[in-house]
Parts: sequence; C-alpha cells; structure tokens
Amino acid sequence: MQRVTLGNSDLSLSRLVYGVWRLADGKDQSPATVRAKIDACLSQGITSFDHADIYGDYECERLFGEALKEQPSLRDSMELVSKCDIALISEKYPSRRVKYYDTSETYINTSVENSLQHLHTDYLDLLLIHRPDPFMDAVETGAALDKLIDSGKVKQVGVSNFQVWDWKLLQQNMSNRLVVNQIEMSLLERRVFTDGTLSAMQSDAMSAMAWSPLGGGSLFGGTDAAIRLQPIFSRIQAEQGCTTDLIALAWLLAHPAKILPVIGTNNLDRIKSVSKALDIKLDRETWYELWTAAAGQEVP
Ligand code: NAP
Repeated sequence: MQRVTLGNSDLSLSRLVYGVWRLADGKDQSPATVRAKIDACLSQGITSFDHADIYGDYECERLFGEALKEQPSLRDSMELVSKCDIALISEKYPSRRVKYYDTSETYINTSVENSLQHLHTDYLDLLLIHRPDPFMDAVETGAALDKLIDSGKVKQVGVSNFQVWDWKLLQQNMSNRLVVNQIEMSLLERRVFTDGTLSAMQSDAMSAMAWSPLGGGSLFGGTDAAIRLQPIFSRIQAEQGCTTDLIALAWLLAHPAKILPVIGTNNLDRIKSVSKALDIKLDRETWYELWTAAAGQEVP
C-alpha cells in the first residue's frame, strides 16, 4: 500500500483510508465484526482510520475502541484521525436546542478527551475541525489546536470542508501547519477540482482527503450521471478486470495531487478487495472521458 506524507509534516497515512462513519449502520456491530473490518484493512496496509466524535450518534468511536481495548498493541499499527466541532441534536445532549458548530477551546478539548477515552488511546494522529464555524474566534481556535499538539494528545491538525478563506484565517493564527483538508470529492462531486479549493490546498501544502469517494453509494443508484458512466465503467472493467467501485477510486487516485480516498463500505468482501484500486491505471484521456460522462457535457 502506498503511503502519503501529509503536507510538510512527519505524519504519513495509507493512501486509502477507512472511514467509520457507517460503522454503527451495519446490522452486526459485534466486536468480532468490527475487528474483522479492521483486520481486513490492516492486512492490505490500510492503516489509517477516519473517525469523528459524532459518527453513529457519538457511538462509532466507542465501537471501534473496543477492539483497541481488547488488543492495545493494535494501536501501534494504525493512525487514528478524528474530528470535532459539530454539536448534534442527540439524546446524549438533551439540553441542546439546535445543531451548531463549536470551535471554542473548551469544546475542542472536551471532544478530544472523549475521543481518546472512547478509542482507548492517549493520542490522535490527526485532529480535524469538521466544518467551518461561522462563529469561529480564529485566535482562540488556533491557540487551542497548537496547545493540543504541544500536549502530545494530537500529533497533527487539519480541517475538513474548509474553503481557502476559512483555512487561511485559521492558519494565520497558529504556529503549527494545517496539514489536511478533508473534502467531498468523487466523480459525482467535482467542484473542488475547478473552484480553486484543490489548487489552493496544493499551494499551501495541504493534503487532500476525499470523503464519499463513491458519492456515498450514488454511483450505483441509477442517477443520470451513473447511467452515463456505466458504458465507460463496463469497458474499463473488461480491459482491466475490475469493478465499478474500484474504477471510481482509481479516478481519484490518478490525480497528481495524491488524493487520499476515505472509503466507507461496511461490506467485508468489498473492504478485502479495495486495495486493488491502486492497480488500475487510467490515462489522461480516460480520466477526462469519465469526467465528461459524469458531467454530461464535454469540457469547455
Ligand atoms: P463512499 O465509499 O462514497 O460510500 C459508501 C457507500 O457506498 C456505502 O453505503 C456502501 O454500501 C456503498 N457502496 C460501496 N461500494 C458499493 C458497490 N460496489 N455497490 C453498491 N454500493 C456500494 O463513502 P461514505 O461512506 O459516504 O464516506 C466515507 C467516509 O468519509 C466516512 O466513513 C467518513 O469517514 C468520511 N466522511 C467525512 C465527511 C466530512 O464531512 N469530513 C462527510 C461524510 C463522510 P456497502 O456498505 O453495502 O458497501
């Protein structure tokens, strides 16, 4: 499995990252099943796991953490990413009246402490601010992130769903670098390729993690774009002996920005074969053929 060094930091993640957002959706959430998914990732060199405090109504970190509690030595073979700042309406927080974002130092620190406790670890490899907070005090948030790195509780920090003006403001108020922006990117969500986001990230040495790389499953759901893409997928499948999901991942992997797709399947067989996406080669013209079919029109 290829690895990608984040920005100019000393932290590397596996090129494919396993996202645990849907971990609590599966019918079988037993420790054995969660452990089988972790093992299927690790055996392919997928060592990086993408969490957020809120996933599964605040349950996914706990479910995953049971595996680390059972076998603490697993921690040394993986990188743990988590996120914070979304405050969900939840039975766990009965006094909340509205969903909101909170980038205050107190909220970030509390969220990190909860993540560490739930994951049975004493550090996160990477902490991301989950969504831009229109009420952010950049001085306070930047200092809070720096202090978390100084404390050793977090090795590196980054952001998610940020636009260039959001991360520039935060970065100006920090001494450590923001090493990642995790954004939605797929054949079905191509805006960041042309709206300046991916370009600015490369200029600022921020790595790109791609969430919902298969459009959250919409690539298989009979959308107009999926229907237009199907004949091209079929041709590549015949040429390279692979499946649609792997071609869609290969489309992101082919990009020179060294995008790290964050995969979300709960299906053990799909997890077991996902690293084959790295063997698929898409040349420039095929990359644009897929873009054109997804867009429904040729590039200008
Ligand atoms: P995704 O990989 O685009 O979508 C996964 C969905 O596609 C699952 O429902 C899966 O169903 C389905 N799927 C995959 N392969 C399929 C196939 N061959 N045929 C039919 N269905 C297929 O990713 P995602 O789950 O939406 O997101 C991935 C990760 O990104 C999350 O876990 C999370 O870590 C991260 N994320 C981050 C943000 C953010 O704001 N930063 C937002 C959303 C997600 P099966 O389980 O049945 O395979």
